Amino acid sequence: MRSIDLHTHSYYSDGTLRPSEVARRAAAQGVELYALTDHDTLAGFEEARAEAEKHKMPILAGLEINTSESDLVHILGYGVDPSSRELLKTLEDFRSRRAKRLEMILERLRKSGVPIEKEDVDGVSRHSLGRPHVADALVKRGVVQNRQEAFQRYLVRGKPGYVEPMGPGPEEAIRVIAEAGGLPSLAHPGIIGNGLDVGRYAGLGLRGLEVYYPSHSGPTTQRLLGSAKKFSLLATGGSDHHGPASGREDIGGIQVPDEVFDRIREAL
Ligand code: AMP
Ligand code: ZN
Ligand code: FE
Ligand code: FE
Repeated sequence: MRSIDLHTHSYYSDGTLRPSEVARRAAAQGVELYALTDHDTLAGFEEARAEAEKHKMPILAGLEINTSESDLVHILGYGVDPSSRELLKTLEDFRSRRAKRLEMILERLRKSGVPIEKEDVDGVSRHSLGRPHVADALVKRGVVQNRQEAFQRYLVRGKPGYVEPMGPGPEEAIRVIAEAGGLPSLAHPGIIGNGLDVGRYAGLGLRGLEVYYPSHSGPTTQRLLGSAKKFSLLATGGSDHHGPASGREDIGGIQVPDEVFDRIREAL
């Protein structure tokens, strides 16, 4: 088995650590292939790359794009050109949609009597905003204990602060990554639930499937491996680490069979 981590977040989006620290921890855990995949930004890549180089840990330029299809349909991109003007411009647009959504969330929370202001979320992210930052603000205000509780009580569908995701559709997310020279992979397919139609995304140009993911059970992993094979998708994997106090602290890489590791290395 080999250790990879192709799904991690830093404070440039909703992680809590700086990119160099995330990369350092991955290297310390023996990760042999790494990607920082912040939401809608490549701002942390250079810092992570410099750290990865110190540890001779191969790193891919990565990102994660949350789509408007549902709160769980996210597209990871690997090996994009981090200097692509087209890509950087598109991501800027996606981030401004995130900022707009966040304002709508705050508005809703205030209307339902939760004391929260724009200043509470200013500066919590270096670049790309999201619901976790609202959650952090609610923790700071003493409304909830942690991110998990904030999501459950206020930020998921049906709760007072919920606003539908405003990202691109899956087709656009896949295209944007491919046009920047990257490989689009469907994130955490095992938690998307009923109705997941991998074939449809494959038809839109998807090239990978995140088969290996901490919350995927053994049978789920096997089923997803079957889907990857059926639709000629590369099996990828990652921890979805978001740093301390995020509720998503797993890091240390995901163990994948040698043959899966070799395929990823060849493709990327
Ligand atoms: P957003 O991009 O604003 O829709 O927020 C989605 C992000 O919130 C995901 O990518 C996760 O990083 C995080 N997230 C989703 N559900 C939870 C949860 N229950 N607890 C902590 N973080 C969560
Ligand atoms: Zn996240
Ligand atoms: Fe995700
Ligand atoms: Fe993620």
